[in-house]
Amino acid sequence: MAQTAFAAKRRITLAGAAIDAVLALIKAVGGVIGHSQALIADAAHSASDLASDVLVLWAARIGAQPPDANHPYGHERFETAATLGLGATLLMVAGGFAYDAGMRLLQPERIADPGWLALSIACLSVIGKEAAYRFTMRVANCYDSDLLRANAWHSRNDALSSLVVIIGVLGALAGYPFMDAVAALA
Ligand SMILES: [Zn+2]
Repeated sequence: MAQTAFAAKRRITLAGAAIDAVLALIKAVGGVIGHSQALIADAAHSASDLASDVLVLWAARIGAQPPDANHPYGHERFETAATLGLGATLLMVAGGFAYDAGMRLLQPERIADPGWLALSIACLSVIGKEAAYRFTMRVANCYDSDLLRANAWHSRNDALSSLVVIIGVLGALAGYPFMDAVAALA
């Protein structure tokens, strides 16, 4: 049973990791081509998402191990610890997001270049991360895994962040430069 659950968790986490790897690559290339610091920073975020996928895989693997002499009650506490770690990084991500939006509001010249490149990449990001949220959440509920739920919520947070970028860029293209920052704060 534990092994079936682990196989399902591994499959879904690897799919999410593939999305994060592709997004990191596209954002890095787009950032270099478009000379966009915002995209490079976003690429770094996707790379850190990839790192948390690896953490989830590792914790799920240990959590699936049967009880042994050193751990007579099983290894589920490893999953709990990793879940707490994921929750903490999620808080940091949300905090960094608010800080960044605030800085842009105070210094309008720092508003990221509102180009079509940033817009297309943000659209890809919303689709990819929302998909990751949905399929990860389905498996999380199926096996009642808080570890996967935490990772799924992180994906949805990232999808929402990119959605805010889209609204801001569209606003800027329509001639409202401050909308970028306002949308980010919202
Ligand atoms: Zn993320």
